[in-house]
Amino acid sequence: MSKQNRYDKYKKIICEIGKRMYQNGFISSTDGNISIRVDKNLFLCTPSNVSKGDLTPKQIILTNNQCEVLEGKGSVSSEFYTHLSAYDERKDISAVVHAHPTYSIVLSLVDISMCTPILPELIMTLGEVPTTEYATPGSKEGAEIIKPWIRNHNALILKSHGVLTVGKDLSQAYSYLERVEHSAKILFLAHLIHKPDILSEEQYLKLIPKLHSPNS
Ligand SMILES: [Zn+2]
Repeated sequence: MSKQNRYDKYKKIICEIGKRMYQNGFISSTDGNISIRVDKNLFLCTPSNVSKGDLTPKQIILTNNQCEVLEGKGSVSSEFYTHLSAYDERKDISAVVHAHPTYSIVLSLVDISMCTPILPELIMTLGEVPTTEYATPGSKEGAEIIKPWIRNHNALILKSHGVLTVGKDLSQAYSYLERVEHSAKILFLAHLIHKPDILSEEQYLKLIPKLHSPNS
């Protein structure tokens, strides 16, 4: 298979995930961005200022670690610098997804942490999901701020802004995004009714052997 054909397959997967993100309400308007590392310092990414809900493979940009457009139309999102930080820190990942899902953002606005051990499925899949300090979306500062966090976590809440997930492939990074937002919705609803129960130390420790290591 030629390199070109291999990229076409990845471009189609990016379009499919963009549609799912849009249909699930994780992004609106032209929000969000998706990328795949196809080679060392070579990436496919979604263009900026375009809805990710109806992307076509021809719109997907081939770029490098200088954010130059090597293939495709439009421009590379300023938030792609944050993706590059994740790729720099994690040689084991091949995909990054960033979205603006409602419940995850709401929890960060009111300082409800997703690190508190409440939901066993979230702990078993992602361990802790930390919230980073606030940074202007798409800024160099925002790209720097994630570095210490992404080294040891596959999902981050970007305070007042959104969610960033990484995976060995795009389907894994996307499934982490779904998991985070579904968990945030449960926590949001629980907090509306009552202070949710926190797992006991014993209950938490039983989950540790099942905990997914970011670098495994
Ligand atoms: Zn964003």
